[in-house]
Amino acid sequence: MIERKISRFGVLFLVFLLPLFGFSQKGEKIQTIVIDAGHGGKDTGALGKVTTEKAINLAVAKKFGAYIEENMPDVKVIYTRKTDKFIELSERAAIANRNNADLFVSIHVNSTEGTTTANGAETYVMGESKNEKNLAVAKKENASILLEDNTDAYDNFDPNSTEAYILFSLSQSMYQKQSLDIAGKVQKQFAAKGRHDRGVQQAGFLVLWKTSMPSILVELGFINNAKEEQFLNSEKGQTQMALALYRAFEDYKREFEAENHSGQKPVVQDQPATNVGDTYFTVQFASRDKKVSSTDKAFSGVKEVDVYHYNGAFRYISGKFTSKDAAMKRQSEVRALGYKDAFVVAFVNGERGTIKQAEEALKK
Ligand SMILES: [Zn+2]
Repeated sequence: MIERKISRFGVLFLVFLLPLFGFSQKGEKIQTIVIDAGHGGKDTGALGKVTTEKAINLAVAKKFGAYIEENMPDVKVIYTRKTDKFIELSERAAIANRNNADLFVSIHVNSTEGTTTANGAETYVMGESKNEKNLAVAKKENASILLEDNTDAYDNFDPNSTEAYILFSLSQSMYQKQSLDIAGKVQKQFAAKGRHDRGVQQAGFLVLWKTSMPSILVELGFINNAKEEQFLNSEKGQTQMALALYRAFEDYKREFEAENHSGQKPVVQDQPATNVGDTYFTVQFASRDKKVSSTDKAFSGVKEVDVYHYNGAFRYISGKFTSKDAAMKRQSEVRALGYKDAFVVAFVNGERGTIKQAEEALKK
């Protein structure tokens, strides 16, 4: 299993940390999974000779979901799409957050330029790409936003800018460990089905950016490799891939629930915003090009609004907390007010830092 230490950026970077909506992950059970068939509608994804990525993604997503529905009556399966329609990347994550999902699985098919012999399956989690190949995969998948009408949700992210990825790839989910766990299980099952195992990888995917639960992106194979396309386009191939995903989910669920059988829901106490120093957690819920004159009027209902300037825009935050759980509770409240993309961020010594850095600093 791959497990990387991630606390090596000493600098204060925007690290959008993606917290929970509610506390399902700390509950005892895996109750809801969101299955995301990549692309759709005008966004075909990668093109093969006889089929499209979007069609393979949807077929495997539906089969995978059907196995769960048949065999796990205690799990609710939510699909981001069940038909050939276009859905924004941010909306895919929002569907998972709104439904308080315990796991998010985005299904894709890869394609390479130049060569037609690349083969095998790989599974990604959000993180820093270690090589050009992974970066290229993320760029290709993120290019979907170029087809979106409104890209406000991405904080001016330019999917073609390598520099943007350097910042973006520092995003680390607080669920990275669990994401790596399910990713490893998926790869193990793919290998068991005889697929070439390209391993667990990391890169910056917009679709994984704001999900508030363990999240993976699966690349089933290469559509520009004729043999792989044929396999992925076949009933047998799609069944095998869906079964592999199902087996991995089954293992993940069983292990999670065994480890958490005595788990109790945490009691979260609101902490007063006073007496909080320069290191704290807060909830970012809006960005504006211009500073609003009255936050009370602009953001009615949101408590303890403050603002800071970052990356060319004014970012509005709610509350300051010395515990992450308290900030997550505030996040739920702010989201309930309609700011569905609200998320927890951390400040360390007055500068934007990572959640991990803030936790470590607050421990001292
Ligand atoms: Zn894709």
